[in-house]
Amino acid sequence: MIKRYTIRTRKEVELIDITRQVAEVVAEAKVEQGLACVYTKHTTTAIFINEAESGLLQDYLALLEKLAPPRAGYAHDRIDSNAHAHLRSALLGCSVAIPVVDSRLALGTWQRVLFAELDGPRERSFIVSVVRG
Ligand code: ZN
Repeated sequence: MIKRYTIRTRKEVELIDITRQVAEVVAEAKVEQGLACVYTKHTTTAIFINEAESGLLQDYLALLEKLAPPRAGYAHDRIDSNAHAHLRSALLGCSVAIPVVDSRLALGTWQRVLFAELDGPRERSFIVSVVRG
């Protein structure tokens, strides 16, 4: 089963908890054992798994700011000045795969699936694919 979600981001850089949407697809797919893949096709967004505690959400953004600050002399900025967003996306990755065990996402207690907007605000989308196996 494959489902595409569209979200409207509100800030230039923002982290959005999409765990509920991923769990919804797993429930609809009626898969007992398998794998849920969450994927973004955009080159300036990312998807990763970690804790969504409010302080940590600020810390992730602060780390990205340190690792890839805007306008730091990047070659790509000659074209559209968003190289930092591409680089942040490359660091975080564009997909995650989560085991489905007994019809539920096998996430740890504190793990959440986070969608990272890195060059917003814009309309964005992500795909959830659930396969049996
Ligand atoms: Zn670009």
